[in-house]
Amino acid sequence: MALEPIDIELLKPQELRVIYDMSRVILKAVDSASALKEIIRIARPVFIFDNVVLYQPREDKSLEPIYARSVGRGRSVEADMAWGEAIAIDVLECEEIIIRQENISTEGDSRMESRLNSRFFLGLPLVVGDVVVGALVFIRFGGPNYLPEQVNMAQLIAEHIEHLLERQSLVNRVASLEAERKLDHLQQEFVATVSHDLRSPLGFIKGYTTTLLRDDIDWDWETRREFLTIIDDEADRLSALIDNLLDSSRLQAGTLPMEFQEVDLSSLLKEFTHRTQIGEYYVQIKLNLGHSNENVWIDSTRMIQVLDNIISNSAKYAPGSPVTISTKLDPDYLHITLEDNGPGIPNDQLENIFKRFFRLPNYRDMAKGSGLGLFICKQIINAHHGEVFAESTLGKGSCFHILLPRNWSKFDDKYSGEEMLQ
Ligand code: ADP
Repeated sequence: MALEPIDIELLKPQELRVIYDMSRVILKAVDSASALKEIIRIARPVFIFDNVVLYQPREDKSLEPIYARSVGRGRSVEADMAWGEAIAIDVLECEEIIIRQENISTEGDSRMESRLNSRFFLGLPLVVGDVVVGALVFIRFGGPNYLPEQVNMAQLIAEHIEHLLERQSLVNRVASLEAERKLDHLQQEFVATVSHDLRSPLGFIKGYTTTLLRDDIDWDWETRREFLTIIDDEADRLSALIDNLLDSSRLQAGTLPMEFQEVDLSSLLKEFTHRTQIGEYYVQIKLNLGHSNENVWIDSTRMIQVLDNIISNSAKYAPGSPVTISTKLDPDYLHITLEDNGPGIPNDQLENIFKRFFRLPNYRDMAKGSGLGLFICKQIINAHHGEVFAESTLGKGSCFHILLPRNWSKFDDKYSGEEMLQ
């Protein structure tokens, strides 16, 4: 049956009311699933059916029943969805309304059985733009057949559902455009930040090397040494930056290998403190070990990387301040805090400092950095099923908290290298 224009003259006042109500549902729809349900509920008093199924074609041309409603006669929705499939395939293929009757009653069927086995189908194509995007199939068990004015009504229901699908596809399109735009923006930001951060040490290295190579100047040994030290520092910075960039993208992709083992945290912290005090930056560390005999299941190298980053941040942003490292046992976590007496971090930025490339604008000039360190720390601690966060009072200092789960045996199976970050 070809799609005919709907004849409004044929509609009764109750049907007009239903159409008005369906239009209002579409106008007010927040989510398509409940709007669809509501349309079918509203339409049912003026259009009798036992089952309805809405099919949409998948990419591989198979059918996906995206909505099904069974209003009686003892049939399960799943079974009903399959009954409508054959007619839905035909509707999608010929893009026309199809009315079909099927009778599979056999002798000896009870009255109910013969009624259920005599099926009257009405299939309608759902068109959005010029494209048939689905098929709406109604079933009546035991009749009656569909009269022209009832087909008319079914067509009106289908038209309302088409509006709903069109709306949904627009919403999806807008969401995917928005996601694309965000990704694009992130990529541009990433490239801009990375190229800026890579350029700056490279600029120093190139500048001082070119200066040293000039034939017209005979640099004295002290100046030469000073320039070479700058080149050396900047090369280290470049290499650290590249390591950070690699770590951060591997952590995000879930491919950074981790080697977990049972570790005595007290020994690790003592050794770390000792090493830091003779290391490249000097920070006076006070160690308060408030826990005993508690081992943790960690990747020591990565854990030291986290501690190192937080301590070196204190050296950079809270110069001259001692750092107190404390531990205590919380019910579920082994709790480590690292506290400095520096300038502190504004409360509304405490979460941002863990985001990729984020640096507090006012502290940028205090020290070089890329804003990757704390982002990496967070990813590493997350991979330990732990938490890291900061607290601060402006002008008094910052305190970084690391929580490591005590009941790590429950994660045992997951703590096996690369896969745990997936
Ligand atoms: P980077 O040090 O390379 O900039 P991080 O991710 O390690 O990157 O830190 C992000 C930002 O958090 C820093 O740029 C700084 O603004 C702020 N920050 C981190 N630690 C401290 C601290 N102890 N005191 C004050 N600000 C801090």
